[in-house]
Amino acid sequence: MRLYCHEHPETLTLESEVIDARPGAVALAESPFYPGGGGQPADRGRIRWEGGESAVVGFEYAGGLLWHLIEGNAEAKGKAEAAVDPAFRRIMRQLHTDTHILNALIFQAFDGALVTGVQMYEDGSARMDFDLPGADNERIKALEAPINDAIRQDIALRFDYVPLAEAEAQHGLIRSRSVAPPPTPDGLIRIVEIVGLDRQACGGTHLASTGASPALRILKIDNKGRHNRRVRIALAGVSGLGN
Ligand SMILES: [Zn+2]
Repeated sequence: MRLYCHEHPETLTLESEVIDARPGAVALAESPFYPGGGGQPADRGRIRWEGGESAVVGFEYAGGLLWHLIEGNAEAKGKAEAAVDPAFRRIMRQLHTDTHILNALIFQAFDGALVTGVQMYEDGSARMDFDLPGADNERIKALEAPINDAIRQDIALRFDYVPLAEAEAQHGLIRSRSVAPPPTPDGLIRIVEIVGLDRQACGGTHLASTGASPALRILKIDNKGRHNRRVRIALAGVSGLGN
């Protein structure tokens, strides 16, 4: 899947043609919104058109189109301006990039351990589940310092596409047992690289470099079954206790 937000991560407001509409839903020729997936919640924001405006409350794919579900029963027409909530997107980019750093350090420290689940929350906290049978939770907790080193080093991210078969053949490139990004129509899969630290398939939104994230805290580690460890993390200043 190729998204406008992958190619133009800094463009949060975009004028576009309404290509289809019904009461409460609109499809645009191009959209800056991330529709959710891979543990990252969908963007929030608004769509404005001549004579109307509404909040975007969700997304659905139907008939080959990405539909923006909008509050109320309005029907958009003509040209529309789509505007992503910048604060929400910023938090998601920070948190999502930091989940890759945690993931990379777990992968290195624990012998290629894989992700079994991930969920990010709007408050700037997240949980990641790893297949880590017998791991010492203190060793996981101790990764907080190297995570913050990687943030302070302000490491650049790079984005690329490789054929799905190639991605599947390379150990560690598909890191998750549960969440794999959908390939593009031509069979390519998106690769997100934190240069020198991590390289993995992912379809979410990320920072241009790690230094744009605030510090990260490891809040808590829970044992979930024999194999799973659930690591709860939060951006500095976020309690993360509600999730
Ligand atoms: Zn990602």
